[in-house]
Amino acid sequence: MATSRTVVLASGNAGKLRELNRVLSPLGVVLRSQAEFDVPEVEENGLSFVENAIIKARAAARHTGLPAIADDSGLEVDYLSGAPGIHSARYSGEGDEGNNRKLLAALQGVANEQRSARFQCVLVYMRHGADPTPLVCQASWEGRILQQPRGEAGFGYDPLFYVPDQQCSSAQLPPEVKNRISHRARASALLLEALRQR
Ligand code: IMP
Repeated sequence: MATSRTVVLASGNAGKLRELNRVLSPLGVVLRSQAEFDVPEVEENGLSFVENAIIKARAAARHTGLPAIADDSGLEVDYLSGAPGIHSARYSGEGDEGNNRKLLAALQGVANEQRSARFQCVLVYMRHGADPTPLVCQASWEGRILQQPRGEAGFGYDPLFYVPDQQCSSAQLPPEVKNRISHRARASALLLEALRQR
């Protein structure tokens, strides 16, 4: 049974559900996956992380009648004018390894000083499907793109993302460290604060 504190997460990713549930538990929020409610896939046809997060949250809130949270994230590379950006997940059409190969090829011959990049994460909370003032929390994580992959942990572009403060790639960081300092961790902390205030 849904309670008044139940919020639906517009994602089927079990890792995100676990992570966000932990962050929001101090508020008494119980986050449930949209998979439990058979929310149909929605086309992410926005042109920004913010638009896509809103599209997903709105669809989940409309379908379930519950408040909804959605996230959208990706990698922005300055030399590539922000690409792969909102297309990060499907940049090559060939999964994470293909994406990393394509990124390395696009930056072939580019010096380290010109390989600046950042992960972006947007988290959106909507009270209902027609909420005109969704909470929008955005955070980024600065780094640069390595010349070759390093490390085995994480997912996506982690093996190519060098974190200067830590002097290693994000795939070389212990998960508990990444989960404390990443774009997603910071956006989650902002969302917790925004929900507290509301
Ligand atoms: P989504 O927001 O889960 O759809 O993620 C979008 C895509 O951005 C992922 O498929 C990855 O390619 C990339 N991405 C987002 N966050 C991370 C991260 O923490 N590490 C590595 N890649 C990431």
